[in-house]
Amino acid sequence: MSLPAWLDKPWSDLVGRLDRLPHGILLTGPVGVGKRMLAEALAARLLCTEASGTQAACGRCAGCRLRLAGTHPDLHVVVPEAEQEEAEGASPRKSGKPSSQILIEQIRALQSALELTAHMGGRRVVLIDPADAMNHFTANALLKLLEEPPAATHLVLVSSAPRRLLPTLRSRCQNWSIGQPDGELARAWLADFADDGATRLSGLLGGSPLEAARLAGQGVGAALHRFEGDLSGIRVDADVLALAGNWEAWSRSKDGLAAGIDMPRLSDWMLRWCWDLVASKCGVNVRYFDGQRQVMARLVEPVPLPRLFDCYNEISQVRRSATHPLNMRLALEDMLLRYQQCLSGGKLP
Ligand SMILES: [Zn+2]
Repeated sequence: MSLPAWLDKPWSDLVGRLDRLPHGILLTGPVGVGKRMLAEALAARLLCTEASGTQAACGRCAGCRLRLAGTHPDLHVVVPEAEQEEAEGASPRKSGKPSSQILIEQIRALQSALELTAHMGGRRVVLIDPADAMNHFTANALLKLLEEPPAATHLVLVSSAPRRLLPTLRSRCQNWSIGQPDGELARAWLADFADDGATRLSGLLGGSPLEAARLAGQGVGAALHRFEGDLSGIRVDADVLALAGNWEAWSRSKDGLAAGIDMPRLSDWMLRWCWDLVASKCGVNVRYFDGQRQVMARLVEPVPLPRLFDCYNEISQVRRSATHPLNMRLALEDMLLRYQQCLSGGKLP
């Protein structure tokens, strides 16, 4: 897949100075804007022996063929165990959860691998994502590599939370910050490569199209559609206790599990929904549920603005305490009752 249009500029900037690229490159920016995609394209380009100028890797030379087969000896991809197992489709573990952190053993293995000379005689590339998923010791081991990098080796670090990186690590790298794409470009890309669910999610996530496409692939877009339908149907006399029961059953169903439907996610959506209700009442653009503008205008029409603010504050409290409650049904009932009471002007418990 070619790079999305909003990455054209960072791509040409990076590739335009390929011969002067520093050893340490840090790609930062919000989740889902394509940092990893850009890092992979850059790694591919650095290992390609045919491409020139701002061209992408050719996909045909020996270097490209090895990389595409996942066996290029001079490309080292360092990611948390959890991602690696998911990518390799590993069978379920007998015990323990795979680590979501990059472990010191992985950096040590990388150090040993880089002590050898480049197998293909050209450049070597290390891709580390997310570079902030390291404890202090691991980050220090990586810092040593960045301080004395082997010749013709580039370390490409990816991070959505660069403040969590060791400051010394950050200062050893040249930072490239990727911003959120323009809404039009993001929508055009989603229209070409993803489905309706992804477009819906893109609004909710505020301009992280790749994250939207990833989540839509897990059925989160379809789940959001259901959520919107359920919420827009809540009226003063609606049976929200029954809805809480339905949502609880949903969270345990196959679709619900795949889409990660749980209390944190539902309360987070709920909070964004309430934010949009306030926006709708104030006559400004809704931010997250753009497709529900008309529904929202109808919902807020009879409700005074202060009550909508109360509603937002109530749900925000629920959101803060929503981890994984022992009794999800009760937590959902509480949340939906508060919402309904706020909107209908009933006394709050
Ligand atoms: Zn090539």
